[in-house]
Amino acid sequence: MKKGLLIVISGPAGSGKGTVNSILLQSPEFSYSVSATTRAPRPGEVDGVNYHFITKEDFESRIQNGEMLEYTSYCGNYYGTPLREAIEVMESGRNLILEIEVEGAQNVKRLYPEAVLIMLLPPSFAVQEARLRGRGTETEEKICERLNRTREELPLVGQYDYVVYNRDGGAEQCADDIRAIVRAEQNATRRHSDAAVAYFKA
Ligand code: 5GP
Repeated sequence: MKKGLLIVISGPAGSGKGTVNSILLQSPEFSYSVSATTRAPRPGEVDGVNYHFITKEDFESRIQNGEMLEYTSYCGNYYGTPLREAIEVMESGRNLILEIEVEGAQNVKRLYPEAVLIMLLPPSFAVQEARLRGRGTETEEKICERLNRTREELPLVGQYDYVVYNRDGGAEQCADDIRAIVRAEQNATRRHSDAAVAYFKA
């Protein structure tokens, strides 16, 4: 069976990653792995669904034991992708979506150069700020922290393979764009280096 693709989707806070990913995940060809984090759950977030909410000690022991595919520290908390879950999804032939920030994305690309890196962006910084404040899930301090983080991360957008803009109400359009990217990547010649051999064998 052909292994699934590893698709990294990053985007600044307020870019709509969650909404776009939940549209993609309605299709059985995509799956995701639940990340672990040391941050506190937001109202409505469920342990084991949104994240595995664990302690700093637990997180650090998982790093020591090589249980993380990648991890990072973001705005004072650890976030990481459990290795076993990620491998299981790809081995099953489904495309794995990792919704992670820029540093984690760079680590993934180093480890798995065949990963596809997609940056989801609001139309502008001003729109991002308005969306983040409108969401009302974070304190002013957390909002400023996330906006500052965006200033650091955005210049690294050139390290991504694709940029997708989330214009107002455009989550469906973004999901379509991402499905098109995945379709093209599945047909890229570098992923079919055995095409000639397989052709004559069949
Ligand atoms: P939030 O606290 O808003 O849920 O997530 C903060 C940031 O951490 C987001 O940019 C999100 O994509 C990123 N993130 C979530 N899970 C992971 C992970 O497993 N690894 C890395 N590197 N980043 C993550």
